[in-house]
Amino acid sequence: MPQRRRTRAVHIGAVTVGADSPIVVQSMTTTPTLDVEASVCQARRLADAGARLVRLTAQGVSHAASLGEIRAALRAQGVEVPLVADIHFNPAAAFEAARHVEKVRINPGNFFDPGRTFRKMDFTDEEYAAELTEIRRKFVPFLELCRQNGTAIRIGVNHGSLSDRIMSRYGDGAEGMVESALEYLRICRDEKFGNVVVSIKASDVPLMTATVRRLAEAMDAEGLDYPLHLGVTEAGNATEGRVKSAVGIGSLLVDGLGDTIRVSLSEDPCAEIPVAEAIISHVDSARRNMTAAAPRRAVPATMPVLAADAKADVETEGCRAIADVLAAGRPVSVRVSYPAAMSADDITVAAAVDLGYLILAGAVTAVGISSPALTAAEADALARDIVQATGIERFKAEIVACPGCGRTLFDLPAALDAVKKACSHLRHLKIAVMGCIVNGPGEMAGADYGYVGAAAGNVSIYRGIEPVRRNVPQADALAALIDIIKADGQWRETAEK
Ligand code: SF4
Repeated sequence: MPQRRRTRAVHIGAVTVGADSPIVVQSMTTTPTLDVEASVCQARRLADAGARLVRLTAQGVSHAASLGEIRAALRAQGVEVPLVADIHFNPAAAFEAARHVEKVRINPGNFFDPGRTFRKMDFTDEEYAAELTEIRRKFVPFLELCRQNGTAIRIGVNHGSLSDRIMSRYGDGAEGMVESALEYLRICRDEKFGNVVVSIKASDVPLMTATVRRLAEAMDAEGLDYPLHLGVTEAGNATEGRVKSAVGIGSLLVDGLGDTIRVSLSEDPCAEIPVAEAIISHVDSARRNMTAAAPRRAVPATMPVLAADAKADVETEGCRAIADVLAAGRPVSVRVSYPAAMSADDITVAAAVDLGYLILAGAVTAVGISSPALTAAEADALARDIVQATGIERFKAEIVACPGCGRTLFDLPAALDAVKKACSHLRHLKIAVMGCIVNGPGEMAGADYGYVGAAAGNVSIYRGIEPVRRNVPQADALAALIDIIKADGQWRETAEK
């Protein structure tokens, strides 16, 4: 089977990530971090569901201090799950959190650099080096504090929150994301701080997978053996959310990349755990049948979905699907069948891992799915969702949505369902549903329209990155979004072919 990337062991409380440890499943709370009782309750539910790490947002110093209370209450209840603080824009909160929890995630795009404004910045090489020296000066005391407290860190890059500094020099794509991580990782290496995990996430699945592969190569070239945390941001909910996560995370795990994973769903976070476990389980089975990773070929510009009665070059069964297609030695059409005993959810994950991996490797020319557990229409719809997740073709609106967290002040799952119901047929549009105004607008990643949480119970509507209606009560927000789409001449009553 493809070798697993060699990484160091990172200790997060009693949980080890990397080296030969099993892939660690983690999740994040959606409760306000200052609400200790609600956060303890949800963290406990997540631990009971199987999350081995639980992350909570800490937007300020008081929130970071609250993590100490949450941790103490969990331990008093006998819940030992390590906690992770999620920090954006606020180094002081990171310093506070490092005293209370087992791991702190920082985002290099907004940790010391200010939040991005898409301002082009011109640096000479000397000026750029001076910026890095300044980051090092500020970052080393944080590493020292973490060392003293035995706190691990994650360098967590998001495509949607790269700094103006990085984008001006390295661009908004894979190079910028990789360099954003490497700048901080090199400081960790120089300071001999080894308790580090790294992630690069994006809502665009092919961009996320290609960039993580590039990061792994760049780290290996520099002798950096930090474990990888994998995830697809703003994956949304329901089948689409599961498919995007399984395609992105699964296709990297198949090649031995990744040590801990988080499936982000805009649902109760406990729903993420069985999906993550199903991805890991199916990847294990698929890898056992493989002798080597797929050679990487160009991805075709179209990916037909096979009709139920069409014959494929390779007719195969789940688990063997990847190995059987690779044995053909050339790109082929494939239909994968899954047994009746599998649940629809497990088939969704398995097919997304199998076909997602093969599509992104350029190994297939057309895809089909069959199972006694699915109607032909359900199998066809699933295949289309998988093709759409790989970015080749859109069959419906691209609706991205964050999972929500302690910053979310409105009913995000209900809003997402309403937007999907009203707008899914607008396949020429990308619409974002985001939980907060702090990170949401930056992380909408090229959406045409945004439905973004503002003050409690209120939402702002964006056209691109511009807010056009502010603080609309949630009850009126969908109508406001549709009004703007109509005013722009972008509304359609029915799906266009
Ligand atoms: S965009 Fe969503 S997940 Fe990200 S910080 Fe805001 S509410 Fe939380």
